[in-house]
Amino acid sequence: MNAPVPEISIATIEQARKTIANKVLQTPVQLSASLSDQLGVPVHLKLEHTQITGSFKLRGATNAVAALSNAEKQRGVVGVSTGNHGRGLAYAARAAGVRCIICMSRLVPQAKIDGIKAQGAEVRIVGNSQDEAQLEVDRLVSEDGRTMIPPFDHRHVIAGQGTLGLELLDQVQELETILVPVSGGGLFSGVAAAVKALKPEVRIIGISMERGAAMHACLKAGKPVLVEELATLADSLGGGIGLDNQYTFAMTRALVDDLILVSEAEIAAAIRHLYWQERQIVEGSGSVGVAALLSGKVTADGPVAVVLSGGNIDMNQHHRIISGEDVDVTQEVA
Ligand SMILES: *Cc1c(COP(=O)(O)O)cnc(C)c1O
Repeated sequence: MNAPVPEISIATIEQARKTIANKVLQTPVQLSASLSDQLGVPVHLKLEHTQITGSFKLRGATNAVAALSNAEKQRGVVGVSTGNHGRGLAYAARAAGVRCIICMSRLVPQAKIDGIKAQGAEVRIVGNSQDEAQLEVDRLVSEDGRTMIPPFDHRHVIAGQGTLGLELLDQVQELETILVPVSGGGLFSGVAAAVKALKPEVRIIGISMERGAAMHACLKAGKPVLVEELATLADSLGGGIGLDNQYTFAMTRALVDDLILVSEAEIAAAIRHLYWQERQIVEGSGSVGVAALLSGKVTADGPVAVVLSGGNIDMNQHHRIISGEDVDVTQEVA
């Protein structure tokens, strides 16, 4: 017997939308002529890579920070993410006047450290691994009473990401299918909870990369399992879902219509397509939905919306990809 699915109600997501309304952008939707031609149905791109901090992670982080008590706000927040969640959390905390410490290992590249610092967070470099950075976070929580804001498996984070789904339904009235990138499943769970509550007939398809797709492996295993992290162009989709996952595994399992995997070559082709055909600079993780359409792995009988979830890509890497160079990151350490 499956455990009951944790409920993030539509009311909770609507409340989140009010909470973050003046703190995040309502990102535009653009009709893609090239993809609409190819699929024979309207294909709408949700330009969430143009969100402040370059990804939707700002939505969840802003909602989670807003939900803190005054005492918690005074003690501050902590996180371990070196990527889009770290940027989003740093920005959200600064906007709310809350102190934010992001812990990272010595192995994190300077560019990522600078990206987080630029959003106003204090960066603490500890140890030689993500695990050691996590130990410092645990200490800051237990000894200093700071609140850890996780990247996906958290009620207020999921509700915040779900506001993207509400927005999309307002912007595009007729939809048959929505494509959502999946890593820990916070974005997917929030968007699917919102959309299935209001328009249960809409198909919601998750997209991950072939290399290290944690949620896909967990759904297959029927429970959260450890998955080896591999280097990929979709670097924001790396990492596990947590063996003690509380929300996103059950929600994704209950709400997903299909979960599709795309290859490195397909991701590179999507980044190129988005640049040359749509004039958009989108990171690998944000391009996986377009990769699934271009490759023919997803087809549709009605209007499609694709969430372009983020734009934080190394511009040298982007330049090489759009110039047609064969960019292989698979030999790098994830
Ligand atoms: C975090 C992230 C995702 C995946 O979100 P989850 O909630 O972990 O599934 C997708 N795209 C980008 C750009 C991200 O930063």
